[in-house]
Amino acid sequence: MILYGQQSINQQDIDSVVAVLTSDYLTQGPQVPAFEAALSAFTGVQYTLAVNSATSALHIACLALGVGVGDRVWTSPITFVASANAALYCGAEIDFVDIDAITGNMCPTQLAIKLAEAAKQDKLPKVIIPVHLCGHSCDMQAIGKLASQYGIKVIEDASHAIGGYYQSEPVGNCRYSDICIFSFHPVKIITTAEGGAALTNSSELAAAMARLRSHGITKLEAELQRQDQGDWYYEQHDLGYNYRMTELQAALGLSQMTRLQSFVCRRNELATHYTQLLTRLPLTLIQPLAESISSYHLFVVRLPKAEQRRRIFDEMRALNVQVHVHYIPVHLQPYYQNLGFTRGQFPQAETFYNDILTLPLHPGLSQKELAYVVDCLEKVI
Ligand SMILES: *Cc1c(COP(=O)(O)O)cnc(C)c1O
Repeated sequence: MILYGQQSINQQDIDSVVAVLTSDYLTQGPQVPAFEAALSAFTGVQYTLAVNSATSALHIACLALGVGVGDRVWTSPITFVASANAALYCGAEIDFVDIDAITGNMCPTQLAIKLAEAAKQDKLPKVIIPVHLCGHSCDMQAIGKLASQYGIKVIEDASHAIGGYYQSEPVGNCRYSDICIFSFHPVKIITTAEGGAALTNSSELAAAMARLRSHGITKLEAELQRQDQGDWYYEQHDLGYNYRMTELQAALGLSQMTRLQSFVCRRNELATHYTQLLTRLPLTLIQPLAESISSYHLFVVRLPKAEQRRRIFDEMRALNVQVHVHYIPVHLQPYYQNLGFTRGQFPQAETFYNDILTLPLHPGLSQKELAYVVDCLEKVI
């Protein structure tokens, strides 16, 4: 089977993890801060907090921005459910902004219309969560401008997008956002098995997220002195969680960081190759914005006839090509339907979902395998 996505693990990765196993610390040792420093250095952001998943990162990002009961959060309907669930964990209300049919990302025009409407009704969101689908950056300048105009905070869900660039700067530098989150799940660009990170340029948000990932506990020197206590002393100020990353995960992440650029480079080469091979087929490609370089987490095409997607999908799978579909619109999930969302509410997202197909793309694929995928697709279509 040609997998749609797969991790790339080499001897350096294995040695790094094994070395941690015989070291003094399995958690809260030197690897986590070293991995965080590598992420900060790569993106140019001030603060990075490594956590046990991108879902956890989204949760503490929302909490740090003060999202709670009575607040609203908006995201894209074409995303993994975690982008929306994070708001619900905080007791907030979730809503969606329809996508741009060309990029599959949150549409800035739709966002502007929805914000103007919400402002009239005094129902503005506290936070919006644009998602860089496939690793293609959203139009962050437009989204950031609208957010500052209405006094709204922005969390970039860059789960797909580490290693990508927007306006010649690395995704994750938070130029147009308050917080940016990454995922290190094995199908993503680099992996720590499970893992994620939250990045920010705000020292207050970084401190809040650092507390929230570890039970809401702080151990500041000043407090120790004030309380005239010993080194055992700590204080819990918030209701936090245990969202910490282990040393094993961080060691793997740190080792993977040394190959981040080569992974993204290889993914771009393969995407270019796909684009050339696919010109002979009647497909529409989901393409990055001109002012960006995608990390190409996913290669998504739109099929000419939605009613043939099921057949094409099944026949490709029978030919040992693990095609996929990203994503079922979140508002169509039974849980979200129970919250009151209905079919037809986000028509661009629903149309997009009906004819998309994800083709295999990961650094381990050969050009020969790519040619096989395209040959199969041509036959099947
Ligand atoms: C993978 C993914 C997540 C969740 O990542 P985890 O690290 O598995 O928690 C969130 N949002 C998007 C868009 C994703 O693709």
